[in-house]
Amino acid sequence: MKDFHKSPWLIHYDASSCNGCDIEVLACTMPRYDVERFGIINTGNPMHADIFLVTGGVNKQNAAVVKQIYDQIPEPKVVVAVGTCACTGGIFKECYNINGGVDTVIPVDVYVPGCAARPESIIDGVVKALGIYQKRHDELLAALNEAEEMESEKAKKAEEKAKAEEKAKAEEKAKTEEKLEKKEDKAEAKADKKEEKADKKEEKTEAKADKKEEKTEAKATKKEEKKEEEAKEKEEKKPENKPSNNNNKNNNNSNKKKKGKKKKKKK
Ligand code: SF4
Repeated sequence: MKDFHKSPWLIHYDASSCNGCDIEVLACTMPRYDVERFGIINTGNPMHADIFLVTGGVNKQNAAVVKQIYDQIPEPKVVVAVGTCACTGGIFKECYNINGGVDTVIPVDVYVPGCAARPESIIDGVVKALGIYQKRHDELLAALNEAEEMESEKAKKAEEKAKAEEKAKAEEKAKTEEKLEKKEDKAEAKADKKEEKADKKEEKTEAKADKKEEKTEAKATKKEEKKEEEAKEKEEKKPENKPSNNNNKNNNNSNKKKKGKKKKKKK
């Protein structure tokens, strides 16, 4: 009882007893024996029960009922057969309608012999059942914890796997982005080189064009200079000739005047 941390509830079923064992079971709950001081409660609902207490042998009619009640009790559960009839069929064993003890239908954990079984032995059987119940409870709890741990490990592994996959994807993405950046850089470098080449070509062509222009301008200036020089030379030559012309003109005029005077004298 020390190691039992839960108030055990039990359900009592009278299979086909002579009521002798049933009275002893009820006596256990009465003030004289008072099992309720240990937290043991006799419940009517199999789904609330931890211990299945059966009195009397199992017959053909109630075998299914015993099985049904047993199935309704949640795990972990313990079965206690109280009285000789519940253990083996007892004095009714040879009857045409009796199957035998409770273990002919469901597994029995504790056998409490006696016809009728004494309350002390019933309480002793129930205490034994509590030990079995606690052991099963611990095993079930351990199994549940193990299952939970396995599930958490699985979840952790799945999470780690997902993280690793995400990391790998991110790395791949980064690599592809890096490759793309490198490609873009290369393409930009190529384009820059092309532009540089084109600029150099343009500069060269512009330089050539400038040189040509310079040459043509130089030629033109030379020509102009030549022309100017020629014009200057002409101009320099002109003043020497002009006076002679004037003289000629004057001479011509004087000659004309002389001729006119002669004509007048003749008249
Ligand atoms: S064991 Fe005895 S007292 Fe208990 S049910 Fe059977 S005949 Fe009755």
